[in-house]
Amino acid sequence: MPKQVPNLRARNFNEVALGYTAEQAQAEANRCIQCPKHSCIDGCPVEIDIPGFIKAIRDDDMPEAVRIMKDKNSLPGICGRVCPQETQCEAACSLAKKGAPIAIGRLERYVADWERANVKSAGSPIVQPAPTSKRVAVVGSGPASLTAAADLAKLGHSVTIFEALHVAGGVLMYGIPEFRLPKDIVQAEVGYVVSLGIELELDTVVGKTVTVDELLSNGYQAVFLGPGAGAPMFLNIPGENLNGIYSANEFLTRVNLMKAYRFSEYDTPVKVGKRVAVIGGGNVAMDSARCALRLGADEVYIIYRRSEVEMPARREEVENAMEEGIQFKLLTNPKSCIGDESGQVKALELYEMELGEPDDSGRRRPIPKPGTEYIFDIDVVVVALGTRPNPIIPSTTKDLETTRWGTILTDEVTGKTSKLGVWCGGDMATGAATVISAMGAGKRAATNIDEYLEA
Ligand SMILES: Cc1cc2nc3c(=O)[nH]c(=O)nc-3n(C[C@H](O)[C@H](O)[C@H](O)COP(=O)(O)OP(=O)(O)OC[C@H]3O[C@@H](n4cnc5c(N)ncnc54)[C@H](O)[C@@H]3O)c2cc1C
Repeated sequence: MPKQVPNLRARNFNEVALGYTAEQAQAEANRCIQCPKHSCIDGCPVEIDIPGFIKAIRDDDMPEAVRIMKDKNSLPGICGRVCPQETQCEAACSLAKKGAPIAIGRLERYVADWERANVKSAGSPIVQPAPTSKRVAVVGSGPASLTAAADLAKLGHSVTIFEALHVAGGVLMYGIPEFRLPKDIVQAEVGYVVSLGIELELDTVVGKTVTVDELLSNGYQAVFLGPGAGAPMFLNIPGENLNGIYSANEFLTRVNLMKAYRFSEYDTPVKVGKRVAVIGGGNVAMDSARCALRLGADEVYIIYRRSEVEMPARREEVENAMEEGIQFKLLTNPKSCIGDESGQVKALELYEMELGEPDDSGRRRPIPKPGTEYIFDIDVVVVALGTRPNPIIPSTTKDLETTRWGTILTDEVTGKTSKLGVWCGGDMATGAATVISAMGAGKRAATNIDEYLEA
């Protein structure tokens, strides 16, 4: 797929990947052998009829491609951009055994983009169902909640989404940057979900503005919880509270949601300085580093305690970051943060690591190498170590059991929690994961909620 060239894109927030042309999409769709096994569908947590929509592209029947896609997936423009297809549907593609799998994600994006550009000729895929008079409250508006809400609305239930922030979309809006996932695309797909007849109540913190128990006693027969895992994790090393050290959540929220990259037009400041260190090796770390570069930093470093092989970020995004000039200090970990007399971070004390036996995560355990400490000058540090669930909902809801990691105890298949009438899915149930796994959980919970309401 064509992309903006690295030296140009490293200084702008426009989308990096430019999407297939019609000819490229046709050529890729024509590579699909339409094998009878349909293993790609098994690799998709929301079970899109992948061979079906690819065939429709091949037949040049784009309205049909849209219809097939939206039957199972209300957020195709988002999934086509950020899903890790390489470990899911594309990994299961029959062609992957011998060579390159079909680029399913890119074709998915092509279908979604075609629909947005040609919405009139695509027609409306919305068929209004007969109302059931059952009311469901959906907490949060990330991919888990949007999927649960859309599927429940399509079944005729009356759905209200309660979102804490002033805008819907969850991490898709406040976390993933514009150059990977343009916000107008997120809002167009949120708009589609809302157009299914869903009510959206913004600025409503469940557990503060209203509790889950109040929702259940105020006429909602079921509640789906999809509040994500938005509480940042820290290094817990000396000096971490110095000025100039951000959590990735704060940094990315300022840049993306609060539009700090358009400072003066928007009044959210963000400091990057000349040298930025981002601690971590996941998608969040790559996004933070690439934002810092685009905000004008001269040198941006990823500091990661394992090697490149163990990095949890999508391969494509690691490559994009490298092409743009992000520097990788691998097998390296911070020991302390050093400040100046005004309380501003000025350096990190780093030390080297080596890899031992695999740990619980299956990745080789990083072990410190004694006597390798050194000082590394830095202006700003972004800590991107991962996130954990916010306890506000469990701590204000009777009979809602949690795990030792603070996630809500949830049946993996049905999404049921320990509390009657309450389901959960997405990062709040699994810990930080992926967009498509959150959507799969929302879908399974919607099916089970429907069975419960109709019983
Ligand atoms: C920077 C970043 C980059 C990422 N990149 C990728 C990627 O490339 N590919 C990928 O697949 N995944 C990626 N992920 C992970 C993915 O975004 C998450 O796994 C996914 O968004 C989880 O979805 P969710 O619906 O569970 O929760 P979220 O997306 O976190 O949404 C939860 C929503 O609930 C709201 N909420 C929270 N508490 C309350 C409350 N008490 N009351 C009301 N509302 C509440 C929040 O404001 C939020 O809007 C990334 C994550 C981050 C942070």
